[in-house]
Amino acid sequence: MNMFGGIEAGGTKFVCAVGTGPDDLHDEIRFETTTPAETLKRVIDYFTAHNSANQLHAIGIGTFGPIDVRPDSPSWGYITTTPKQFWQQTDFAGTLIKAFSVPIGFDTDVNAAALGENTWGAAQGLTDFIYMTIGTGIGGGGMSNGRLLHGMLHPEMGHIMIPHDHKTDPFPGCCPYHKDCFEGLASGPAMRERWDIPAENLPDDHPAWELEADYIARALVNYICTLSPQRIILGGGVMEHTALFPLVREKVSQLLNNYIQTQQIINDIDTYIVPPGLGNRSGILGAIALARQALASPIKH
Ligand code: ZN
Repeated sequence: MNMFGGIEAGGTKFVCAVGTGPDDLHDEIRFETTTPAETLKRVIDYFTAHNSANQLHAIGIGTFGPIDVRPDSPSWGYITTTPKQFWQQTDFAGTLIKAFSVPIGFDTDVNAAALGENTWGAAQGLTDFIYMTIGTGIGGGGMSNGRLLHGMLHPEMGHIMIPHDHKTDPFPGCCPYHKDCFEGLASGPAMRERWDIPAENLPDDHPAWELEADYIARALVNYICTLSPQRIILGGGVMEHTALFPLVREKVSQLLNNYIQTQQIINDIDTYIVPPGLGNRSGILGAIALARQALASPIKH
């Protein structure tokens, strides 16, 4: 049986695991993200320990970015212009190819999670959907016509511009590039800075949640109108406050104002905007799914 390796690479922590899917995922390990040399050495040590009989057939990487996912690019597999210190121009996939000589799947953390959800979770059977993470940062991935969203580079759905009423919300936003883009207004750090309380400590009746739902709904309406997703999956630390879901659904309906008359929006919005089917395991399982995909159709460089 084929065994796969998965890497969920975040700006603060790495998760590595080996297995084949949700019912067969073992020896998961987590460690802090430090320098590329030190962190990738830990990754290689981990997979070497699980590859004594050459049983690893492919490795999938879902990573923070921006990254280069263009198969014909000389810097395919690199983390490129990331604001994360030390990681700029890091040959992530190439380092693993050198160490293991197996097919490597390489994509954004959110596209990986989207593929995981498509394979085993809340997007099974769908060809067009998006997966958003709303937490330390905001990012979005997904599929269009059954293929993971790529293009010039990859989508950066967290950095779209949404209406910001400075009277009701004087917080200027905290994105280092754009100030009050979606991430600058609605990420976990934005909530903490605006209210001076970490999001996880904000009480249920705090006005923060109403405002947060409003920003999320505005972003979702933009994605609904541009991408026409069949479903929207919302993960990440902020969305663990599950009371946000009904608020977001209600505001999306209000903002669309009966303009889009589909079954999903009019009658089934509770199953249209949903939490991840794989819970907080979409990322690592998505990396395993990327590995499966890499073995089935390796990228030609
Ligand atoms: Zn931004």
